[in-house]
Amino acid sequence: MKTTDVLIIGTGLAGTYVALNLPSNMEITMLCHHSTNSTLAQGGIAISLDQKDSFEAHIEDTLTAGRHTNNLEAVKTLIESAPDQIHTLKELGVEFDQDAQQNIHATLEGGHSYPRVIHAGGDQTGQSVMSLLDQKIQSAKNIRILSGASLLELVVDDQQAIGIVYEKNGIIQVLYAKHIVMATGGLGDLYEHTTNQEGSTGEAIAIAAFAGVKCQDMRYIQFHPTAYKNKDKGYFLITEAIRGVGAYLLDAHKKRFMEPLHPLKELAPRDIVSKAIYDVIESTQEPFVYLDTRHIQTAYLKERFPNIYKTLEKDNLILGVDLIPVTPVAHYTIGGICTDLMGRTNLNNLYACGEVASTGVHGANRLASNSLLECLVFGKNVAEHIVSNHEHTSLPSYSMNPPNHWKYTKTTASQNYLIHKAYIQEIMTKHVGIVRYDNQLKLAKSKLIRLLHQLKKVRFEHVDHAKSYNLVSISLMVVEDALAHESLGCHYKEKKSEKKGLKSC
Ligand SMILES: Cc1cc2nc3c(=O)[nH]c(=O)nc-3n(C[C@H](O)[C@H](O)[C@H](O)COP(=O)(O)OP(=O)(O)OC[C@H]3O[C@@H](n4cnc5c(N)ncnc54)[C@H](O)[C@@H]3O)c2cc1C
Repeated sequence: MKTTDVLIIGTGLAGTYVALNLPSNMEITMLCHHSTNSTLAQGGIAISLDQKDSFEAHIEDTLTAGRHTNNLEAVKTLIESAPDQIHTLKELGVEFDQDAQQNIHATLEGGHSYPRVIHAGGDQTGQSVMSLLDQKIQSAKNIRILSGASLLELVVDDQQAIGIVYEKNGIIQVLYAKHIVMATGGLGDLYEHTTNQEGSTGEAIAIAAFAGVKCQDMRYIQFHPTAYKNKDKGYFLITEAIRGVGAYLLDAHKKRFMEPLHPLKELAPRDIVSKAIYDVIESTQEPFVYLDTRHIQTAYLKERFPNIYKTLEKDNLILGVDLIPVTPVAHYTIGGICTDLMGRTNLNNLYACGEVASTGVHGANRLASNSLLECLVFGKNVAEHIVSNHEHTSLPSYSMNPPNHWKYTKTTASQNYLIHKAYIQEIMTKHVGIVRYDNQLKLAKSKLIRLLHQLKKVRFEHVDHAKSYNLVSISLMVVEDALAHESLGCHYKEKKSEKKGLKSC
């Protein structure tokens, strides 16, 4: 029987930060199957540092973005714990960008009433933080990483999570742990157009739900307003921080359209900007709007946003010179596995943190750059709770044999997973986007249920079938939650039943 003290599923910022906050005498195993979204983070981490700013203002901005449906305790915990976590990151060696006076430089992003987003490597905050933390993980003797491994099931015994079933190199294995942490990120890749890494399908949320774990707010998928369609591959995020330094949005007639819509104009909360762009795209029938930086110096933009500059330059677009075509795409998962502020779920010894968790901190819409902070603050809390609970936790001593349905019968790879995934992405994109109609949601539901029934028969034949089954299930969770609730943030539910075509997302 293979065991470990702490099993962390996910090697993004949330999982990594939990691991680094655990003592070195604990045996930790980390599991991952695709690249993390954490490395892609551009804009930075929101924290109120300046004398003229305050926790209260950051809290108020978070509540305003979340339509005041946030869990206030979670918001306070997030914001008031930020200085300690940033201090820890600095101690670990993260170098945040500085201004001329050698203070940490903070910038403005959508929905913030004060420039409070700190960053590293210009627009490569995620990469800068993660490369350093990854080194620490690699050199820690008590941490083992199983990469290319897919979580398939949670093993639960008497309301306690005691292990997982996973697949690596075609072999199904079971690993038992005293503490299990879900840090599996979001589900943007359920959509055809997303800023997320391929593989960010939220499968783990469905797996948790099958094991009886409570989930909530699955309807809230945040669409980022400004993604650029790369010539050679998918969508590339253009950080809100560019609008923070003054970039405008223009319609097909090269006119600004945010001015009459919100006092913060281009820096209104994300859902408002995304919906405005959606409406412009609908009315002009152009598949995008433009980001205009022509009034800002190229040299400054190149230094401040080096990665975006380089990426656009490859497509012959120069910041400060050319208009950049942008469109909203699926970006961030607000709902997920229900947890308290220590990351505890309704199953004993099962925790969740980072994007996969739902503490209610974001309410109906996430404030920009609060999510890396969420990984740090709640990741730290999870580690603390594991430590305080470790002595009282033990694995059941009797022999645990996995039930039969874990014995997948076929080992040959199936092509069906990719076909199913593309079909599901099409459904989610067409019917479950920024603007949602009841009849379209019902249509999505019936298509997904049909596929679910087909897959039920073969679910345990091959790992790929199980993965397809998880994808349909997580999509259904989003659709059913959207059908059951009125919209408050992130997306808009239209009363009328007809749907005009949604071209971009
Ligand atoms: C392009 C982009 C830019 C962003 N910019 C910012 C920003 O500037 N500021 C900010 O605050 N936020 C930003 N965000 C959001 C933020 O990056 C994420 O919310 C955060 O990094 C999520 O971290 P995480 O550790 O929860 O998940 P991830 O970093 O996504 O890690 C998920 C991990 O789980 C593993 N995993 C998932 N499912 C399974 C499975 N079934 N089996 C095995 N392993 C699994 C993956 O392999 C991966 O290791 C951005 C997001 C994107 C996509």
